[in-house]
Amino acid sequence: MTRDQWDDVLHRLAGLDQVPSDVLRDAVERDGLCHTTHREGEPPEPDTAEEPDSALAAHFCAGCAAQDECLALELRTAGAETHGIWGGLAEHDRRALHRVWAHRPSDSETSDHEGGSLS
Ligand code: SF4
Repeated sequence: MTRDQWDDVLHRLAGLDQVPSDVLRDAVERDGLCHTTHREGEPPEPDTAEEPDSALAAHFCAGCAAQDECLALELRTAGAETHGIWGGLAEHDRRALHRVWAHRPSDSETSDHEGGSLS
């Protein structure tokens, strides 16, 4: 992802900062593509035993209406220990994102911050 794409993701996640985790979880369970597909009996599973890469994660979650909620919830609950595909990102991308997200400014701080590096 480019720096602009990372910034866009962080901006969208900031809009969910005040949303309680149970509300995020409800949205994911209600609208998440893998959840709705699972209810139809065909849960999509990455067809690989290796760590999913970025392209596979993007493909797996393409069209999901709950990507941001899913990503925010995973960052909150699994943090740097995240595994697999969540929120349209592979685990190495989420770990990189988490380093910045975890150091994001609070509401009382400015939006200009020097969080971690995504590289
Ligand atoms: S973003 Fe991906 S992992 Fe999360 S609910 Fe949607 S399809 Fe499932």
